[in-house]
Amino acid sequence: MAGPRPVVLSGPSGAGKSTLLKRLLRDYEGVFGFSVSHTTRSPRPGEINGKDYHFVSREEMQRGIDKGDFIEHAVFSGNMYGTSKAAVQAVQAQNQICILDIDMQGVKNIKKTELNPIYLSIHPPSVQILEKRLRDRNTESEDSLQKRLQAAIDDIEISKEPGLFHKIIINDDLELAYSELKGALKEEIALVEASKDS
Ligand code: ADP
Ligand code: 5GP
Repeated sequence: MAGPRPVVLSGPSGAGKSTLLKRLLRDYEGVFGFSVSHTTRSPRPGEINGKDYHFVSREEMQRGIDKGDFIEHAVFSGNMYGTSKAAVQAVQAQNQICILDIDMQGVKNIKKTELNPIYLSIHPPSVQILEKRLRDRNTESEDSLQKRLQAAIDDIEISKEPGLFHKIIINDDLELAYSELKGALKEEIALVEASKDS
């Protein structure tokens, strides 16, 4: 696909992916664009339809999948999530670095495509700290929280598979993690900034 190389941000729910990517989008306006996924989960307070996600019914999501509208899709914690072709194309049409925030199943499925992104995994310092962050975020029911913690334990183990990720960033101190993230992407950022100047 044309344009700069996309970036996959994966890692356990609650590790800090949204926090980090929102900062990138804010600090590098016009350089990065977010691939807005579809999901069947309910919006959290403050989430905007079409910006954070396309919030859809299961029927609508399944119709899109059947029509071949999705690059990848997965069930996570009882809800469907997926990256549409249109979401990625909308960012690439702007010549921006497309950021995908996807789970481990998404990573494995994107690996089977031609997208060729940089794969980064954001990890919490420990599962205990992850649990505290998820509880403090106050967005999950106890059932959803437990499913997310179990998925986190599995995913942290799978992430160690050699070659799966280009880099694993431990999000302990937010500033340090953000610096590491910017460092991992500095060549792509420079390429896009140079192309915008010319
Ligand atoms: P994800 O998108 O990976 O599910 P979030 O970005 O929503 O995770 O982060 C989960 C919670 O942890 C949020 O409430 C966020 O403010 C908080 N958080 C993120 N990074 C840190 C950090 N380095 N230290 C403390 N809290 C953090
Ligand atoms: P949340 O409900 O916390 O927003 O997201 C739950 C999980 O779904 C996170 O791990 C997130 O990365 C993942 N996710 C979000 N969008 C997609 C998507 O389009 N595809 C896949 N496979 N996972 C996604």
